[in-house]
Amino acid sequence: MVPVQLPDPDKGLASCAALQANSRGRVYPESPHPYRGEFQRDRDRIIHSAAFRRLVYKTQVFVNHEGDLYRTRLTHSLEVSQIARTVAVQLGLNEQLVEAICLAHDLGHTPFGHAGQDSLNDCMRDYGGFEHNLQSLRVVDKLEEKYAAFPGLNLCYETREGILKHCSRHNALELGELGRRFIDGGQPGLEAQLVNIADAVAYNNHDVDDGIRAGLLNFEQLCEVPVFGAQYSRVRAAHPGIGRRALTHETVRAMINFIVTDLLVTTRTNLAEHSPADINAVRAQPRPLVAFSDEVFVQHMELKGFLNKQLYRHPRVLDMTGRADLVIRGLFALYFNDPAIMPEEFAARAAEGESHAGDAGRARAVADYIAGMTDRYALSAYHRLVDATLVF
Ligand code: MG
Repeated sequence: MVPVQLPDPDKGLASCAALQANSRGRVYPESPHPYRGEFQRDRDRIIHSAAFRRLVYKTQVFVNHEGDLYRTRLTHSLEVSQIARTVAVQLGLNEQLVEAICLAHDLGHTPFGHAGQDSLNDCMRDYGGFEHNLQSLRVVDKLEEKYAAFPGLNLCYETREGILKHCSRHNALELGELGRRFIDGGQPGLEAQLVNIADAVAYNNHDVDDGIRAGLLNFEQLCEVPVFGAQYSRVRAAHPGIGRRALTHETVRAMINFIVTDLLVTTRTNLAEHSPADINAVRAQPRPLVAFSDEVFVQHMELKGFLNKQLYRHPRVLDMTGRADLVIRGLFALYFNDPAIMPEEFAARAAEGESHAGDAGRARAVADYIAGMTDRYALSAYHRLVDATLVF
């Protein structure tokens, strides 16, 4: 076979992008691959991870068995990736790094979406808490067991920087260089900033779509939100007699296009104004350069506020939240009191954690196990070990 050569992975990228040539590298140094760049390798490792496969059975708002048409964390991650990559290419940013961060950004999420995360955080209150962004980093740094030479996936610094979107000060102090920006107030690279915003654009818009589909939101309420109302009127005017399904899709599509175009134009202006020489100049900025205009930011936040009130606190969603809380708490108490009933790998982690850090070490292993569960796995464990009668 003819050996394939790696084209320059930084070719065509802006100087302020995350260039492979400027990368802060991997914790465990590795030899280069003959024909894949370093950020491509990161993306490939993420796609082949067990945590990535589990995203298909994890949800954000609707529980997986409620219907096959709703978003899961996997389809959400793909939608974030689609939005962020489009913008990345336009701005000369590193598309492969963007994709890697997008696909990994939700790996640390618990079963049952936000409800599961809040419950697990509460269970962990006396043991250092539970933060899903930090957990995503923990998955790629420690929990994935795939390589002989190192724990985790040994991803590049820039990928890990992007995955760690938020972090408490306490935890940031323990992360060394990677956590410093949460203490000193710096920014991550442009690719990380972009994924952060694309995440919010994706979930705002798909939650509107799923909310309408589930019958929890209607056009009348939504038209009070300016960003929706404007696009809805435009679509109806252009296509009188359009069916409900297509009207929803056309409106959501127009909203995404409107908001992403604003993001692109505003960011381009910011980059021209500040002209950061390289990624370190980006990191030293007082504010993110990837941003909406003030006007669109307000509209984006209005939609977010609307969803918070009308969808995430809808009685049907809250009903699910209550049952998710029961499942997470029930499983946590069970495994914490008797770690030996967890699979061998986690039981061993619990014993090891306890020998180093007492109850907090044991609790962390339990949280790792529960956080890794899919919705249906958690529910079946609860049915088997705690209460077979819980209807979900
Ligand atoms: Mg997300």
